[in-house]
Amino acid sequence: MTTTAAARGRARTPEVASYRMYIDGKFVDARGGSTFDVYDPSTEAVVARVPAGGAEDVAGAVEAARRAFYQAGWKNVSAQERGRILFRIAERIRSRRAELAELETINSGKPIAESEYDMDDAATCYEYYGGLATKIHGEVMPVPADAVAFAMREPMGVAGQIIPWNYPLLMAAWKIAPALAAGCAVVIKPAEQTPLTLLRLAEDFEAVGLPPGVVNVVTGDGPGAGAPLVSHPDVRKIAFTGSAEVGRLIMRNAADQLKRVSLELGGKSPNIFFSDADFENAVDGALFGTFVNQGEVCSAGSRVLVQRDIYSKFVDAAAAKAKTIRLGPGLDRDTKMGPLVSAEQRDRVAGYLKTGRGEAKVAVGGGRPKQFDKGWYVEPTIFYDVDNAATIAQEEIFGPVMSVIPFTDEAEAIRIANATPYGLAAAVWTRDIFKAFRVVKALEAGIVWVNHMQPTFVEAPWGGYKASGFGRELGHWGVEEYLETKQVFINLDEKPIGWY
Ligand code: NAP
Ligand code: MG
Repeated sequence: MTTTAAARGRARTPEVASYRMYIDGKFVDARGGSTFDVYDPSTEAVVARVPAGGAEDVAGAVEAARRAFYQAGWKNVSAQERGRILFRIAERIRSRRAELAELETINSGKPIAESEYDMDDAATCYEYYGGLATKIHGEVMPVPADAVAFAMREPMGVAGQIIPWNYPLLMAAWKIAPALAAGCAVVIKPAEQTPLTLLRLAEDFEAVGLPPGVVNVVTGDGPGAGAPLVSHPDVRKIAFTGSAEVGRLIMRNAADQLKRVSLELGGKSPNIFFSDADFENAVDGALFGTFVNQGEVCSAGSRVLVQRDIYSKFVDAAAAKAKTIRLGPGLDRDTKMGPLVSAEQRDRVAGYLKTGRGEAKVAVGGGRPKQFDKGWYVEPTIFYDVDNAATIAQEEIFGPVMSVIPFTDEAEAIRIANATPYGLAAAVWTRDIFKAFRVVKALEAGIVWVNHMQPTFVEAPWGGYKASGFGRELGHWGVEEYLETKQVFINLDEKPIGWY
């Protein structure tokens, strides 16, 4: 059977593709009929039009999810079958890797090699949860001999999921895969900037065996489509990744219904370099930790703490190397750093660069690169002699901006590292294993790397301490976020109640 691109949800015109959102197994326009533009950050050109979903569209999607879960029987589909569906989604991502990666780069700006890694990671995530689906089970409790008591695990029902623009298809995988493994139905809202790859993947949802309504993709902006999802009474749980500001709003809006929430809110992660660390690796680790994905990374190690005896040499070496980072359009394979995702984000980062120039010294960068007349580019920037109380050391910038802070000894490093409202990630670089473990134990962060920064595996828990949110994604922790626990007690005593 052949399906035209238009019937599958997109119609190609020479430049601008029209996409539709995916509700109840069909590609549809917004009920209100409006659309918004989606851009290529390297050219600033509109590349797609996408429906601007609102409360009515969210209500339709939640109703479809509710029907799929309760009436149509998704709730009772076997774990084996759910696992097979997840494996088939992974297989689709792998077989469409080149096409999806290219679209991810066009839409987000990131270098094509990073998009390819993202596609591989997304497929691996569906595979992991495909396997985990059949390993979700309860426990039996040791009650007296004339009874049996056990704890069952049950899917929560309809899950609402709201994701950011920095890893579009991968963040969707982190949310959709564990929810389906748990047996939930899903309504997901991608970020308005980057909805394209998930809509493209949704073309395959029917073919992989997902019944209509089990996964719904509603496009739109936060206030228009995100907020009604959070306040919908039939949504049992909200999983959110994004800014702390919106995270607070979501928690407040979910409170009325005592809705479960899990929040991954980014951070201002310390990357700590002791003078006994391998110097070359340390410099590379600082640059990679801050500049990968244009710095648009929730776990970016953008607070670089360097011991005083290597401090000047470190700043010089990092600045020299940062100058060699090649900026350009993501589809160019020589590009190491692409443009930021949007004009708005470029302007936000530019605002921090201005603030930073008043707070610290500039080792490299600090503005817009001169060589491009189009594209939302920002120079990789290193500020040094930064006070940890400065704005550029405390606020999440979400761009290629490093703040280097000197420290004298281990105690001072730990104190500065923890002096932030956030606690998502941290890294420590040293060849002294005793020191490494002492620092690991002292850091208030959900993820701590030793002699590396950023490696992320689907098997391991991901999430923050403090204002970086709560709940954990990935690993078996990820699926817990979509499960309820039901205690069942079975009496075996034929005359149990002797009081009356
Ligand atoms: P954001 O506003 O937090 O967006 C994240 C998601 O939440 C998007 O899908 C957004 O929708 C949605 N949203 C916004 N307002 C909402 C509301 N009232 N109710 C429900 N959902 C809502 O992030 P951003 O505006 O894209 O970026 C701003 C800053 O957030 C960045 O500079 C960065 O510091 C931080 N950020 C952090 C992460 C992270 O992974 N921790 C990711 C992205 C951004 P729309 O964007 O479509 O309107
Ligand atoms: Mg936004």
